[in-house]
Amino acid sequence: MRASGRRLKILAATSEIFPLIKTGGLADVAGALPGALAELGADVRTLVPGYPAVMAALGRRRAVARIGELIGGPATLWQGKAAALDLLVLDAPHLFDRPGNPYLGTNGRDWPDNAERFAALARVAADIGQGLVPGYHPDVIHAHDWQAALVPAILHYRERGGPPVVLTIHNLAFQGCFRPETLSRIGLPERAFHVDGVEFYGEVGFLKAGILFSHRITTVSPTYAAEICTPDGGMGLDGLLRARADDLVGILNGIDVTVWDPSNDPVIAAAFDAERIGARSPNKADLQTALGLGPDPQTPLFGVISRLTSQKGLDLLLAALPRLLAQNGQLALLGTGEPALEAGFEEAAARHPGRIACRIGYDEALSHRIQAGVDSLLVPSRFEPCGLTQLCALRYGAVPVVARVGGLADTVIDANPVALGKGVATGVQFPPGSRPMMENALVRTATLFRDRVAWSNLQRNGMTSDVSWRKSGKDYLDLFRSLL
Ligand code: ADP
Repeated sequence: MRASGRRLKILAATSEIFPLIKTGGLADVAGALPGALAELGADVRTLVPGYPAVMAALGRRRAVARIGELIGGPATLWQGKAAALDLLVLDAPHLFDRPGNPYLGTNGRDWPDNAERFAALARVAADIGQGLVPGYHPDVIHAHDWQAALVPAILHYRERGGPPVVLTIHNLAFQGCFRPETLSRIGLPERAFHVDGVEFYGEVGFLKAGILFSHRITTVSPTYAAEICTPDGGMGLDGLLRARADDLVGILNGIDVTVWDPSNDPVIAAAFDAERIGARSPNKADLQTALGLGPDPQTPLFGVISRLTSQKGLDLLLAALPRLLAQNGQLALLGTGEPALEAGFEEAAARHPGRIACRIGYDEALSHRIQAGVDSLLVPSRFEPCGLTQLCALRYGAVPVVARVGGLADTVIDANPVALGKGVATGVQFPPGSRPMMENALVRTATLFRDRVAWSNLQRNGMTSDVSWRKSGKDYLDLFRSLL
């Protein structure tokens, strides 16, 4: 049978997957892409570590492989389903049976054996590619981020063939670099420690190895794909990425439009859609009440849902808060991350009760209520591979105000005079990394907000733009097919 005429079998390897375990956008993508690809003609089975949350979510399961020794202990590979996802769960208690965050211990530091943990994940993905699971022979392995990036290197050094590997880079800032002694512990041969191998500035570089050995490399937006090939955006890997430019492509992320559906979202106060934007307003009142903000429909209410890190540019927002307040604005912030930023926003909220509300923590339900309730969502990132919150914002009628960088540049159409004249604008963009530029954007947004017609056009344009996986799912499928 011709490859194009049958359903493709894709083995995805990822360290997190929504709704089972999530620290960021990687989980959303790993959780949503299988559904999009299923509709288009590919079956994704996803290999994930057996963290406690994953083991607990796994329903009926079947052991498909037993591994006597996997970097320090035995492991079982379970096949099963959870949340409609077809999973292969790597149950290796010595590596993954730990509480909390997938990468960090309770002291907030990386687990000291992260190299071993994710090398094990990659090793088992490579094993599956080479026939570990009876009757299952994936056509392509789709490895996500540094945690799975060793797959093509392992296959390369085994010299026993295996399916082609596509590596997707969700964030080049996380590279998985470890001390050279790691090499023997994770079972790679000594000759791999070479500039044309896994060696990266004197360390073992997981992502570097993935970039070098994968058949294709994708990242999550076209602009980010170009940015990472420059010295400014390449984080030390731009030379290698330029060398692989012919095999590198940017494919925009989508969002799961059934999870993010304002006409059918169980946690928001009032359902609405592009034809009923007026029905959105109870959500603003609900949010203001819930967060102790003044219940004023006329004040522009800005929102943030983010990791609080310097990548996300929230120090700029902290500095720009006086300008936001001078526009009669309010702020609803949900996030967790760097202690200085957490403290900064908490202090600001204490100084401006009723105007600034800050919730430190991770809260899926509140993130939906913020998207439904705020007038405008702020994403002032210094760099942003794709960004998902602005896509959710578009869908929920929260006009995104974003730095013109990475996927933010690709997904929001700035309300400049030309775009406004043509009726295509969906948000506001400003140059990244600059407080004055951000302040200008806040003023511009508040001015637009006071023009009810212009504002509802922005909302409607955003709500009717396609933020689903439809197009990008097809781009992934075409890429996978091109490798057969
Ligand atoms: P990144 O992956 O860099 O953190 P993205 O915008 O790609 O950024 O994805 C972040 C995802 O995590 C989005 O789905 C966003 O809604 C969610 N998120 C971030 N912080 C929080 C939080 N504190 N509570 C709930 N959801 C959050």
